[in-house]
Amino acid sequence: MLITIASGKGGTGKTTVAVNLALTLKELLPVVLLDCDVEEPNVHLFLQPVVNESEKVMTTVPKIDGNKCDGCGKCSEFCAFNAIAIVKGKPITFPELCHSCRGCTLVCPTGAITETPRQIGLVEKGTWSVIKTAKGTLKIGSPLAPMVVDAVRNTAPLHHGDQAVIIDASPGTSCAVVAAAKDTDFCLLVTEPTPFGLNDLTLAVELAKKLGLPHGVVINRAGLGDHSVYDYCHEADIPILMEIPFDTKYAACYARGGRLVEEFPDLSDRFLKLWDVIQHHAKRHQREEPKT
Ligand code: SF4
Ligand code: SF4
Repeated sequence: MLITIASGKGGTGKTTVAVNLALTLKELLPVVLLDCDVEEPNVHLFLQPVVNESEKVMTTVPKIDGNKCDGCGKCSEFCAFNAIAIVKGKPITFPELCHSCRGCTLVCPTGAITETPRQIGLVEKGTWSVIKTAKGTLKIGSPLAPMVVDAVRNTAPLHHGDQAVIIDASPGTSCAVVAAAKDTDFCLLVTEPTPFGLNDLTLAVELAKKLGLPHGVVINRAGLGDHSVYDYCHEADIPILMEIPFDTKYAACYARGGRLVEEFPDLSDRFLKLWDVIQHHAKRHQREEPKT
């Protein structure tokens, strides 16, 4: 079972759910926890894995040979990301804007463009207790978050036997979230019962629908705010799979990087039930809409 934990916005407790679900399940089956929130990975704040392996995520950016370039500007015209500008008849590259599509290399009529490697991120594989982990970190300013997400996902066999692979996605609905959530068996959307939570939840639900993923909601800080998230889920027929009550003792645990299910073992039962209903919904979806 491969699931993504997502949220329309940051700060809803997405990582709390991912980490505590992993901690609960580790007693039952092999667990892999992939931190694909590559712009701000923070699983390691709650688990401190031993890193066994790290690998740079590389791409290529154009390198221009001034001796071969005749200043025609075709590369700059082609680049949809403004990563090449012609200044005084000479091309200047902006590698931090480059999406590595290689198009400029193809359109250059003089063969002046070659490709040079550039690091866009880092993937670290590790273990915490029996949980296998991997974390992706995007280099600040790089636009290629999906490539780093893919590299994290590639560290583990995703659909392999009786294991739980839990992906902590970036908040929002960006390409990085699509890269994290694609082809997963279930998308768990964490929200809070406030108007902001509702607004961002609706966007996240649209994304899950577009990706054809079965999905359900965890309401964190239940009891805070209003009833609009409940009304929306009810009207849109989206299952609310779990609530984590708003409680200062949980907030204090989270703030110091504590692990909820260890400090409050009664929560383990809720996470176990959550896993059961996720499996139920995912399997029903597979029966109704088998993958081609
Ligand atoms: S590789 Fe693509 S994105 Fe990068 S500079 Fe060339 S055309 Fe632009
Ligand atoms: S397309 Fe090639 S020749 Fe033309 S400006 Fe760009 S690098 Fe120079």
